[in-house]
Amino acid sequence: MKAPNGDKPTMIRRPPTVVCYICGREYGTKSISIHEPQCLKKWHNENNLLPKELRRPEPRKPEIRTIAAKGFYDLDALNEAAWTSAQSQLVPCNLCGRTFLPDRLIVHQRSCKPKASK
Ligand SMILES: [Zn+2]
Ligand SMILES: [Zn+2]
Repeated sequence: MKAPNGDKPTMIRRPPTVVCYICGREYGTKSISIHEPQCLKKWHNENNLLPKELRRPEPRKPEIRTIAAKGFYDLDALNEAAWTSAQSQLVPCNLCGRTFLPDRLIVHQRSCKPKASK
């Protein structure tokens, strides 16, 4: 499906949003700095509660070198890297192959059953 008038708006200034590299959600440029440490703390709390095999290494904040190179904040590149980082947090279900956040996977696996019974 194509959006009508899909041209890039040039006059409308949308407040820029930054993707959280931990949870992959979008936040305003001001609230991201408040959200990130909280999100990381939450991530650690949740990670500690997970069974060992589902625990993940701490997500790393992506470094965007183009910021320095271009002399301005390349939000698109940063958001793309942050999104990729957040996606790497997802764990595939060993039964159906869909990917979930570790805490979601536990919930999911309660209802996900392998098709072939042993
Ligand atoms: Zn977050
Ligand atoms: Zn599954």
